[in-house]
Amino acid sequence: MKIILEQIGSINDNIMETLRSNLSAFFGCLVEIRQNTKQIDVFYVPDRNQYSSSMLLSSLENAPGEGEKEARAVGITDIDLYTRGLNFVFGQASPATGTAIVSLCRLREEFYGSTPDEVLLLKRALKEIVHELGHTFGLAHCTNPGCIMHFSGCLADTDRKELLFCPECRPMLGM
Ligand SMILES: [Zn+2]
Ligand SMILES: [Zn+2]
Repeated sequence: MKIILEQIGSINDNIMETLRSNLSAFFGCLVEIRQNTKQIDVFYVPDRNQYSSSMLLSSLENAPGEGEKEARAVGITDIDLYTRGLNFVFGQASPATGTAIVSLCRLREEFYGSTPDEVLLLKRALKEIVHELGHTFGLAHCTNPGCIMHFSGCLADTDRKELLFCPECRPMLGM
């Protein structure tokens, strides 16, 4: 398996590289960074002053390279995402295509008026990426609040979760 991290819009290189190496260590597989040059303006919804998560997700392509049987593509962006029925989302996944997206926007302390904290941001981002990847492996939300597959409705949920699949979720990963 290989994971492709698609950088959508501008994100600091150190953040991308740290996410890449941590994800690679977590899943024990190759993780590659690719630049996604797509125009993001088309996903902007003026009424909400946010971007449509579902539209952005469906625009992502999971194109495994030659000789690669299985790949996962995760778009990483800094724009504020929402989906119908929710004020915002940290991320979204499509198990059918093996694609996902995660926004760093609301994982940043500065979004809430606090001092930026890159270590905390990276920790949160890694959790959200692993969570969305879990969905691409067919996992649903888990009722265990400490499990990475628990739904995050707010940052406190994300901070409470551990970067671990619980004993019930882990076997379903099939890895
Ligand atoms: Zn989820
Ligand atoms: Zn679980």
